[in-house]
Amino acid sequence: MPHEVLALLNRPSLDAAEHQPGAPAFAFTDAATPQVSVLDLGVSRGDGIFETISVGHGRPQALDHHLRRFARSAATLDLPQPDLVVWRQAILAAVEALQPGAEAWVKTVMTRGVEGDGRPTGWVYAAQSADFSRVRAEGISVVLLDRGYRHDVEQTSPWLLQGAKSLSYAVNRAVLREAARRGADDVVFVSSDGFVLEGPTSSVVYRRGDAVYSPGTGLGILDGTTQANVFRYAETRGLATGFELLTPAQLAESDAIWLVSSVRLAAPVRQIDGVERPIDVEFTAALNAWLANLEE
Ligand code: PLP
Repeated sequence: MPHEVLALLNRPSLDAAEHQPGAPAFAFTDAATPQVSVLDLGVSRGDGIFETISVGHGRPQALDHHLRRFARSAATLDLPQPDLVVWRQAILAAVEALQPGAEAWVKTVMTRGVEGDGRPTGWVYAAQSADFSRVRAEGISVVLLDRGYRHDVEQTSPWLLQGAKSLSYAVNRAVLREAARRGADDVVFVSSDGFVLEGPTSSVVYRRGDAVYSPGTGLGILDGTTQANVFRYAETRGLATGFELLTPAQLAESDAIWLVSSVRLAAPVRQIDGVERPIDVEFTAALNAWLANLEE
């Protein structure tokens, strides 16, 4: 069985014409062969949306939540609505075709398509995951970086697409290079008016006393699927959960902090801007074991 699988969607959105009239809804093709036109707006402008989904023991996790978010991102970008029935089928088929393993991942991409054509381009790619056991156990160092937007940017300036999972991730990669220049592994974005937001590919979650929190929704940050599952896990351990607007100084006072995301799962934060902090080894290990073994 292959280590990577690619399925191209024939009609990613119900609103658009098929790419190949009468062909099946999606078809597997060779992941090592180029498939996308150089005129595709996803390639030339980063104009499109994506999702990255964890697969644990052959089960795509938080699939409904990911598909909901995919549709919401499409709406934010004024893209045609994805046909979620077909996307779900393609995701499940790609996972099924992949060589079995404990942890894998699936990426769904829908672009605005070739300029002037009016049909989105869509594909599903699945592969085995890298080994994240070291970062999960030992933790990561982060730096706080100004995102340059106020915490209410989603309401004041929706055209900036904050809170949508768009393909334009060059900034999200640039900040990791800035983190590396400062000797750190990852980043926590802070709004221009001084509130903690999210990582470039993760949500911020922290524990204070008997409760687990995350920065509130509506802050131009992603509605994290892993964060939602971390709250579920915390509740199984009798902890309260909630959202709150907080400053970096308040974050630094919490008992434990994690950057949580699909695929890497919960990475404990062991240093912020060069200041060491404790990590909760037992809780983190139990949380990651729970996340990696979810039924769905
Ligand atoms: N925030 C951003 C900007 C992200 O890109 C991601 C995931 O890639 C997340 C948060 C975490 O989302 P999830 O837990 O659904 O992977």
